[in-house]
Parts: sequence; structure tokens; C-alpha cells
Amino acid sequence: MAPQDPALDALLAELGALDRELVLLVERRGRAALEVAVRVRALGGSAKDAARATTALAPPVASAAGPFDPHELAVVVELVRAQGAALAEREGQPALHVRRGAGEPDRRLVVRGHPIGGAPIVIAGPCAVESAEQIDATAAFLAARGVRFLRGGAYKPRTSPYDFQGLGEPGLALLSAAARAHGLASVTEVLDPRDVERACEHADVLQVGARNMQNFALLREVGRARRPVVLKRGMAATLDEWLLAAEHVLALGNEELILCERGIRTFEPRTRATLDVSAIALLRQDVPFPIVADVSHPAGRRDILVPLARAALAAGAQGLMVEVHPDPVRARSDAQQQLDFPGFDRFLAALWPDGRVPG
Ligand code: PEP
Ligand code: MN
Repeated sequence: MAPQDPALDALLAELGALDRELVLLVERRGRAALEVAVRVRALGGSAKDAARATTALAPPVASAAGPFDPHELAVVVELVRAQGAALAEREGQPALHVRRGAGEPDRRLVVRGHPIGGAPIVIAGPCAVESAEQIDATAAFLAARGVRFLRGGAYKPRTSPYDFQGLGEPGLALLSAAARAHGLASVTEVLDPRDVERACEHADVLQVGARNMQNFALLREVGRARRPVVLKRGMAATLDEWLLAAEHVLALGNEELILCERGIRTFEPRTRATLDVSAIALLRQDVPFPIVADVSHPAGRRDILVPLARAALAAGAQGLMVEVHPDPVRARSDAQQQLDFPGFDRFLAALWPDGRVPG
């Protein structure tokens, strides 16, 4: 049995009481910061002005009597002040559509009869539409394995202007014909606001790629379109930047949003990007819209797609995107990462017992 020390017990009780007092003080400070914000806004100040006003006072640690080093104390005080500033900045701002409301359930959408947002979906197909034979063979193969969403780029965002730029409108027509012939919904990327209307005439789902996540003219155009939108995360975008990009689409009335984590740029050269699994987990908490993970573009290779897919699904992703091509070696873009048909069969078999997309 532990030795008795009534003085120690009293000290521990005092610490507990002080913690409770601290909470009350922090809350009181938060309420005061909010009141400051209301007044600054009433005087015509911005959200940032309101936030700044709450931290404009000099930190009061110079008068500290110890036992803390003033720098240590300043860290604690700054943390509380920063939280107050964040409260003040949010005050009077419209609530973001992209955020999950209290108790709001997951959004579901249905494209050509295929649900998104419940059981995992797979969006598969070549990086780019290259020919009628290529896209039709891929569609037939995928449909037989329970895939319901056929991807294929007609407008390709290429780092070099001398690389294959996609077939353009003829590519859209080939993609939609192949999708229709095999009962699939088509997904294709738009790069230019001027192409959105044309893409809507052919495709069931529009994709905004990583390089265009903050192309606000494009976001506005797909926000006005009556087609679901897959919004990929920019390769150096924070979650908040990504969510505000999504907000541009939602603010124009297009609520059929799907977010796609596709990897962010890090210092690691052995993969093309680093799939941010935490982002999936965090967004599943914060956002009611479906989240899918593209495993091909972050990997930039074929050999680790299964563990990436498992990780994404375990983190809560409601779908996967994966590049599949009948003859990847001869693909006109992303040859190094696309799966051939036997490779995709092995991918499915590793994820699901009967080797088909469930549902
Ligand atoms: C794509 O999906 O074809 C593509 C270009 O991906 P990302 O925008 O993620 O690079
Ligand atoms: Mn690609």
C-alpha cells in the first residue's frame, strides 16, 4: 500500500482545482475575444482585423514572478491567445457548406444508377483515352469485374508541352461511347473553363485535377455545371485550401462533390507523391461528401498499389481510383504506373475475396 501523505493529497487536490479555474479563465477570455470581434466587425473591420485585435496587446509575461522561464510561459499564453484569435476570426463568417454540420450523415450520390458514398467504389481506366479499341477493351474488361466508373483523360495536363496532350473532344466521345456500351459511368478531367460545357455533353462526372485545384475560373464553371465533380487535392495544398477550393464549387450550387486524395509532394523521391492517409481520416470527420483515394498517381509505380489501397480504405476512403490500360508499356502517358488487365485482376483479388468490386 502506498504511504500516506496528507500534504501531498492536498497539493494534488489544489492542482485539480487550479486546472478547473484555468479552464474557466480560458473560456472567459474566449468570450471576451468574441465580443471584441463583434465590435471590430461592427466598425467595418475584417475577420483578420478582428483576430488581430485580440492579440494586439503585449503578452503579459514580462511581469511573471516565476517559477517558469518567461519564454516557457509565453508559449502557453500564446497558445490561448491564438485559439481566441481563431474564434474571433470565425465570428460572423458564413458557415462553410463543405463542413459536416452537427450530426450530419454522409452524403450519398447516384450516378447512372451507381451509388457513391456507401460501399467502396472503384474508378478505373487509362490515364488518357488513346483510341476506340483501347478504351472499349478497357471498359469491357472493367465492367466484367464489377467496376462501375470508367476514367480516361481527353484533355491531359502534361508537364511538358511536347508530351501527348490528349485527343480532346474526339476522346470525350470515345470515352462516353465505351462507357455507354458497357453500362459504366464516365469520369474525365477538364482543364479549361471553355471545355466544361462540351465535357458535360459527353461525360457523367467531371474531374478537376491536382494542377487545377485552385483554378478558380474552372471551379466556378464546374460549380455551375449539372454534373458531379471529383475535386483532386493539389499536390502542395493544405486541407483547408482544398476545402475552400471545394467551397467554390458548392457555393455555386453544385452539391454533387467527391473529394479525391492523390498524394502530396514531399522530399521522398521513391514515390511520385506521398499518399496522405491522415487527410482521408481527417476529412471523413470534417466533411460529409464522399472521399476517394487515387492510388496510381501518388505511387507512380505499380508494385505498391494494394497496400496503398488497403491503407486508404482503412482510413475511411469510400472509393479508389486506379489507372488501368490494356498495354501499359505502350501507353502515351503514365506508362510506368498503369496496371495491365492481369495486374488489375490481382489488385482486385488482393482487396476483395471474390476478385470483384463488391456491390
Ligand atoms: C489524372 O487523374 O489523370 C491526373 C492527371 O491526376 P492528378 O491531377 O492527380 O495528377
Ligand atoms: Mn495519369
